[in-house]
Amino acid sequence: MASITLKDIVKKYGDGFPAVNGVSIDIADGEFVILVGPSGCGKSTLLRMIVGLEDITSGDLMIDGQRVNEKAPRDRDLAMVFQNYALYPHLTVGENIAFPLRLTKGKFTDAEIREKVEHAADLLELREHLDRKPANLSGGQRQRVAMGRAIVRDAKAFLFDEPLSNLDAKLRGQMRTEIARLQRRLATTTVYVTHDQTEAMTLGDRVAVLRKGELQQLASPRALYEQP
Ligand code: ADP
Ligand code: ADP
Repeated sequence: MASITLKDIVKKYGDGFPAVNGVSIDIADGEFVILVGPSGCGKSTLLRMIVGLEDITSGDLMIDGQRVNEKAPRDRDLAMVFQNYALYPHLTVGENIAFPLRLTKGKFTDAEIREKVEHAADLLELREHLDRKPANLSGGQRQRVAMGRAIVRDAKAFLFDEPLSNLDAKLRGQMRTEIARLQRRLATTTVYVTHDQTEAMTLGDRVAVLRKGELQQLASPRALYEQP
């Protein structure tokens, strides 16, 4: 778990108008923050800068008070969950969840890996599906596997990029409840990008509304709702 601080973050692609234009947000340890706004407002760019998949043009990004602008993604220790799941089709559910731990080459014993994978599978109700391949899972189950891969890493924070946008409305509602429950249970700092108003107003502790690369509002869902 960690605090994440964005200080006057700017992203310019080429000479155009900045995709992200001076955004500052203090995300507390364990907090769940939603980034919302219309398509093109800079949500994904901001998330990708936090995880380190995109360079920051100017400003400071701090994790637990330490500036990490120049740190490689792997050294930031954050876990990203994508909307397309990015699962390996030839690996089973268990192997997919274990994958980030295998990458650490020798940091964990096989027994430790099995224990972590089973713990994540229990949290996500995937225990009976550990030997199946992604092709044989429902959309919701695939989404849970992607979350399992984030959970096993004991990452400092979860970063979600529109994780539910490929699911039908019913499943989306169900997964929304699950993500909220899981985040509360694990109390892991979470930044969650969506353009879905319901997700924005029900999931997080605070909502950051972006518009044309700028932070327009930052408040609890209740405060936003009660605004005139
Ligand atoms: P959102 O996630 O809110 O839809 P993005 O962060 O994807 O917005 O995009 C913000 C702005 O940056 C948009 O104007 C988009 O066209 C631009 N942009 C995003 N990625 C690139 C890129 N790789 N090269 C140039 N412009 C980009
Ligand atoms: P490698 O997997 O060999 O490290 P990659 O290019 O796949 O190489 O990724 C580089 C780093 O980027 C990873 O070590 C990881 O820290 C980070 N990264 C990539 N994908 C993700 C993700 N989905 N979530 C979090 N971090 C990621």
